[in-house]
Amino acid sequence: MRLSKDIIKVIQDKDLEFDSISHELLVRTGYVDQVASGIYTWLTPGLRVIEKIEKIIREELDALGSLEIAMPSLHPASLWQQSGRWDSVDVLYKLKSRYGDKDYVLGASHEEIVTPLATKYIKSYRDLPLSLYQIGTKYRDEARAKSGVLRGMEFRMKDMYSFHDSQEDLDRYYQKVKEAYLQIFRRIGLDDVKVTEASGGDFSKKHSHEFTVLTPAGEVEIVYCESCSFAQNHEVVSKALESCPDCGDSVKTGKAIEIANIFDLGTSFSKNFELTYTNDKGTNKPVYMGCYGIGITRLVGAVVELHNDDEGIAWPESVAPYHVHLANLTAKTTPFGDLVYRTLQAEGITVLYDDREQVSPGEKIDSIRSDGTPAAPDRVGAQWGYDRAQRTQWRTYPQATLARRSYKAKRIFLELIWGFVYLR
Ligand SMILES: [Zn+2]
Repeated sequence: MRLSKDIIKVIQDKDLEFDSISHELLVRTGYVDQVASGIYTWLTPGLRVIEKIEKIIREELDALGSLEIAMPSLHPASLWQQSGRWDSVDVLYKLKSRYGDKDYVLGASHEEIVTPLATKYIKSYRDLPLSLYQIGTKYRDEARAKSGVLRGMEFRMKDMYSFHDSQEDLDRYYQKVKEAYLQIFRRIGLDDVKVTEASGGDFSKKHSHEFTVLTPAGEVEIVYCESCSFAQNHEVVSKALESCPDCGDSVKTGKAIEIANIFDLGTSFSKNFELTYTNDKGTNKPVYMGCYGIGITRLVGAVVELHNDDEGIAWPESVAPYHVHLANLTAKTTPFGDLVYRTLQAEGITVLYDDREQVSPGEKIDSIRSDGTPAAPDRVGAQWGYDRAQRTQWRTYPQATLARRSYKAKRIFLELIWGFVYLR
């Protein structure tokens, strides 16, 4: 990506107000543009981060045997009346058509669409288990949208729904999804995710599990144990809890971001939508369902909350929008800079190339410092030994993870310098 052709801009405006670190860094370094509180445009580098996260999610869910589909955002109200959630879910956006006085809902979740869909495919025990997922936009009428992308009114989400012939089969799958989720989060750079027991909310009368990340920007309060994996959402903690019920050690309380959740739906939705199957004895039985969400745009915010330093974002390499940030610090573009850019790209290394001519070196270095690309030129201007007129700088951030690709980029760059010096 050539910056001269892009709309990336470091926002310096001192008067802007932000209510979390990720909100400030994502807006200031041009990953998102705030349209209104809780509503964002994702700009090119932000969209690249989202695409990388979604690729990891798809790989892990495909490995679970789940099938990707795409369901609509506009739902007939009748489906939400049939599930009983038209009145019970308070964050629903309800719309009225100008024609025929029909009511609609903007999708806040998709049980009302996927359960009737499943009735068309599930007839017998041989059709089970079945798992379907989608990645798309959700709408929730939040009273207090805040903290940037951490709590949006419109946000991207992965939601998956599974269908089973027994509680035991659902329990097994639920456990497998839990492990797949932790693997997804590890790959994204979130190593310490707590699997937190929570209430079922609008989804289920049973308990559910939330996947949470401890940070002061979080909106939920959790009680957790540092010696074992015990963690509970504050709202389900029994009042007398002074020590960990699993290991007896003392418990702590902290603020956390909920990045994902999973629910045992039992047979409540299948009963409302008459989703049944015939077992091997020819008897009709209700289907057991689970649902599993990951808040993708919120996940971007959570990664930034955990991966930043006093200079800005420091992306884990797996989700960084580019592997390398290359800057030409001269007034004009140079053949050498272009050669480095093309060579790195030809090697499969993604490059954000600051080739802008009307921008001062200081401003270029500012954007390098803050946008969080794993490999970037030196912040203190340490020069590698080559021609001053062609000073395309290069170095790697010490605080960022340097994986093989970055080392490969460095080697190519050094080879190019030597080639360049030799040719002259
Ligand atoms: Zn414990």
